[in-house]
Amino acid sequence: MPSMLCYVCAERAFFGYQGWSEESGPRTPPPAVPRLVDGTCPTCGGHVGLDPRHVFWHNVHGPFSTGLPEYFELVIKVPGSEESRGSRKWGLPYR
Ligand SMILES: [Zn+2]
Repeated sequence: MPSMLCYVCAERAFFGYQGWSEESGPRTPPPAVPRLVDGTCPTCGGHVGLDPRHVFWHNVHGPFSTGLPEYFELVIKVPGSEESRGSRKWGLPYR
């Protein structure tokens, strides 16, 4: 069981996040998200945990894209759910 990420800080970090893109070159590391310590986030004081295995890369294609994604965003999904299908092939950003 991995230690839980802070849900509040994760949503904040993921909002508007754009990772790896063709223009920027190599894949960028995911943003730092604090983990709960004894059930409390050291950054915001929140208590809601997010299982890091529920965070996936999601590739975003532009309107004129022919193949490669323009960038990746980070999304929270329940593993095994219909919407998470296909996401796992990009690897897990957090463990
Ligand atoms: Zn937090």
